[in-house]
Amino acid sequence: MPELPEVETVRRGLAPYIVGKTIRDVEVLDARSLKKDSVKHFKSTLAQRRITGIERRGKFLWLILDNSPNVVVVHLGMSGQVLLEPHSSQMHSHVRINIALKNASREIRFRDQRLFGGLHLDTLQGDIPASVSHIAPDFFDTRFDLDSVLKTLSKRTAGIKSLLLNQNIISGVGNIYADEALWLAKVHYLTPGNRLSKSRLETLLLSAQEVMAKAIKAGGTSFDDLYVNVNGESGWFELELNAYGREDEPCSRCGRLIVREAWSNRSSYRCPRCQPKPRTAR
Ligand SMILES: [Zn+2]
Repeated sequence: MPELPEVETVRRGLAPYIVGKTIRDVEVLDARSLKKDSVKHFKSTLAQRRITGIERRGKFLWLILDNSPNVVVVHLGMSGQVLLEPHSSQMHSHVRINIALKNASREIRFRDQRLFGGLHLDTLQGDIPASVSHIAPDFFDTRFDLDSVLKTLSKRTAGIKSLLLNQNIISGVGNIYADEALWLAKVHYLTPGNRLSKSRLETLLLSAQEVMAKAIKAGGTSFDDLYVNVNGESGWFELELNAYGREDEPCSRCGRLIVREAWSNRSSYRCPRCQPKPRTAR
């Protein structure tokens, strides 16, 4: 499932090609990928509009249109991909929405196997789409307030991993980067937020930021093969993962074998020596 580094990689891939270009035509091949709008309204809102920017918060992207109150919000969900493909190339059967651009050899194709992702029209509240405004700023947002996030985390009794994944506290962190940050900071995923000192919480947050910054540089993680950049290429950050997906491999810090444990309908990976279970956690 794409997390912040993967979505940011898509944004960076799209921006230089699409910003400044005008939308020629929109083809909706599967209306299930339009999360809120009718096909007719979506098409007429985009047609002939120039794209003036592409922004991101957490795992949400949005296109800004010239002379329009609307923005186009894109969420990749579990398996969504945004590809820039030649107009002449054959469309994959999972392409749900195709946006053709004027004076451009490539078009924007939204491909989604499992249909959890999608596009919708929205209006800005300040400079954030209304439907995204409940999502907290992410680590790379100038509005990210480390002190206030630390204060929030230190009051909560929930396990720290579920707090890291709570998009209303910090956005963009998912299962992969939470496990990596917890490994780096030597924290067990079940440790209640209020049982961690401010300095350990700060170390953890800075670890998450560091891991995601490195992942952006590596073009993201293509762990489940569903994530690719706009050119259809995989990211290579999985080569640098220390915990996630490393079950039964030695911890690169202490040599103990990494374990995989069931957690909240998903998995958590940790080093039993570097990240021992806290006594307070069930
Ligand atoms: Zn270890």
